[in-house]
Amino acid sequence: MSKADLDWPHLDFGYHKTDYNIRFTWRDGAWGAGELTTDESISLHIAATCLHYGQQCFEGLKAFETKSGDVVVFRIEENAQRMRRSCHKIHMAEVPEDLFTDAVFKVINANRKFVPPYGTGASLYIRPLVIGSGPQVGVKPANEYIFLVLVTPVGPYFKTGFKPVNLIVVEDADRAAPLGVGDVKVGGNYAAGLRASMRARERGFTEVLYLDAREKKYIDESGPANFFGITPAGEYVTPDSESILPSITNKCLITLAEEAGLKPQRRHVHVDEIFDFTEAGCCGTAAVITPVGSITYRDRKAIYSKDGKAGPRCSELYDKLTAIQVGDAPDNYGWVRRVPEK
Ligand SMILES: *Cc1c(COP(=O)(O)O)cnc(C)c1O
Repeated sequence: MSKADLDWPHLDFGYHKTDYNIRFTWRDGAWGAGELTTDESISLHIAATCLHYGQQCFEGLKAFETKSGDVVVFRIEENAQRMRRSCHKIHMAEVPEDLFTDAVFKVINANRKFVPPYGTGASLYIRPLVIGSGPQVGVKPANEYIFLVLVTPVGPYFKTGFKPVNLIVVEDADRAAPLGVGDVKVGGNYAAGLRASMRARERGFTEVLYLDAREKKYIDESGPANFFGITPAGEYVTPDSESILPSITNKCLITLAEEAGLKPQRRHVHVDEIFDFTEAGCCGTAAVITPVGSITYRDRKAIYSKDGKAGPRCSELYDKLTAIQVGDAPDNYGWVRRVPEK
């Protein structure tokens, strides 16, 4: 099939219209048959719980074209499980994992011409979404839900490429509470962090780094991404916290770090440790790894990059992971799944 007429090598990380999205409605205890539609909007009841009480969660994953022309998705089972956990935690109808996978495959197949060609560095970003669509005025879970999957071709997350960014530790804001919803992918966590992010940007930083809300001693994560540091002893350390989102990218990097001879550790990471790291990075599906050039904490600054280049460990892990995603490196762990054409 011929590809859509897009400027693939220069695609930004934004919304680009495709042909179809897919939607399912949950009513009377069951998900209905999905509908592929060209409509980019949804009609919602004005008292829908997603609008008033934040019943909303989402996922983010990517599809790639391989050298041989297959379309593959990366670790889709993990996203399916995580979405089920997110739905459960905020009392929404859960999307069964096979329905999730089926919906993603259908919407990819309906939009095959938007899967960026192999070698362009671009990918098809897949955004599954569940919202409470049924009306409630009292605080109660909705009696109706919509599960929707939209896709959009995207270029690299950072226009400037694989270059280190500057973070600032915030102490006057939390994105999530320890026993709250920080460990699930709900939109409210992002809204909670917007003001801190924007303020950091005004001050010349790229993103914030949150500390644990309870003690304000340990690193949690960056706004939309997990955090890791590399120690002089060759450890890959990443925070263990009840208020951070379990990143699938981080899980992959832990495996690949071990392969690369680093010692992975998931534990409390005291904020003072930033001054010992030789490298640091943020990780998530959108950017894979964002190398960190510096972290400002109070009146001190930990510097990891002086020449505007990513460190060797971040570069190595990034290269390894992205090579597996497009099928250039062997998929030793069963992370890649071919999207069957139907
Ligand atoms: C989605 C997300 C991440 C990254 O998770 P991946 O599964 O690697 O994409 C990290 N932190 C937060 C808060 C997120 O919402």
